[in-house]
Amino acid sequence: MGSILNKLKSSAPRLDFYKHKHGDCANFNNGTCKAAHFTNINPKETACPHFKHKQTA
Ligand code: SF4
Repeated sequence: MGSILNKLKSSAPRLDFYKHKHGDCANFNNGTCKAAHFTNINPKETACPHFKHKQTA
């Protein structure tokens, strides 16, 4: 059972987007969103459902 829960968690990382900020998103680029074409985004405000984790590798 535990492994099923872990699989669900890892396959649905976007459910916790509200814990993140635009500034931590891979689509955020100097105040502009590459995914949603928003401009003048405050990097300290809560992320949207399209939030994507930055790849550090
Ligand atoms: S995808 Fe969403 S969270 Fe990421 S920068 Fe664009 S608006 Fe912000």
